[in-house]
Amino acid sequence: MARFGVLCCAVVLAVQLVSSLPVIPRADEVEDAKNALLMQREDLFQGDIAGIDMDNRNGILSPTKRWTNQKVPYVIDPKFTASQRAVVEVAIAQINNSTNVLLVLRTTETSYIFIQAGAVNTGCYSYVGRVGGRQIVNLQVPVPGYGTCITVGIAVHEITHAIGFYHEQSRTDRDNHVEINWNNINPNQRHNFNNYDEKTITHFGQPYDYDSVMHYGKYDFAIDRNVWTIRGKEPYEDTPIGQRRGLSPIDIAKMNAMYPIPKNPTTVAPTVQTDAPEPTN
Ligand SMILES: [Zn+2]
Repeated sequence: MARFGVLCCAVVLAVQLVSSLPVIPRADEVEDAKNALLMQREDLFQGDIAGIDMDNRNGILSPTKRWTNQKVPYVIDPKFTASQRAVVEVAIAQINNSTNVLLVLRTTETSYIFIQAGAVNTGCYSYVGRVGGRQIVNLQVPVPGYGTCITVGIAVHEITHAIGFYHEQSRTDRDNHVEINWNNINPNQRHNFNNYDEKTITHFGQPYDYDSVMHYGKYDFAIDRNVWTIRGKEPYEDTPIGQRRGLSPIDIAKMNAMYPIPKNPTTVAPTVQTDAPEPTN
């Protein structure tokens, strides 16, 4: 935890250094970089994934880790302020409105996510898939100088982990699409850029997605924060990667491949009509 604090301070310094350069980053870029740090905890797998042994990176995503009936019961920590809670609810609504997954307020379910108002230096993190019982999705609330996890994009990212997804650049085929600047990543952080074979993860036949809400940002885990660590392969080296606005069209397609049953079959399959006469045989 202390190391994470040092990391945060280092970034504040880095941001100040950047500010003294002729090219001044936009305020939103500085904010994004500060917030992205909260997804880079040194003690968590790939910076923001809980529940995986750091020495055992074969986080197999088995069907048993999927949510029953595509429903994810949730509880929002009462410690959030009303405005923070509203941001989390927008993230939930985005997933509910665009995918087959249904996040529902928990009643008596034993397995559910608890969206926790995280204290300073706890960062943003989640488990991957249904763990069983109460599982935390941690969102650090705003603290001056430390950034925040209370943005719609970050909340969507962490909840998407809980629904069952790893990071986009973990894909088996990622080396065809991105290059990694290993020299700008601390040796003890390089494992965060591992990718996995098809026995471990699947991309459901979808194309590689620079625009995924689950992709790392270009400067994540950088030693020199002005130098990239991951970027698109030529000719895509300047393509933005790792947006934190919300689910991309490909994110949605993959979530719907994992959870294939539409929420309301009557709207998707209009041939089913409740007022039609009973078929006769
Ligand atoms: Zn993540």
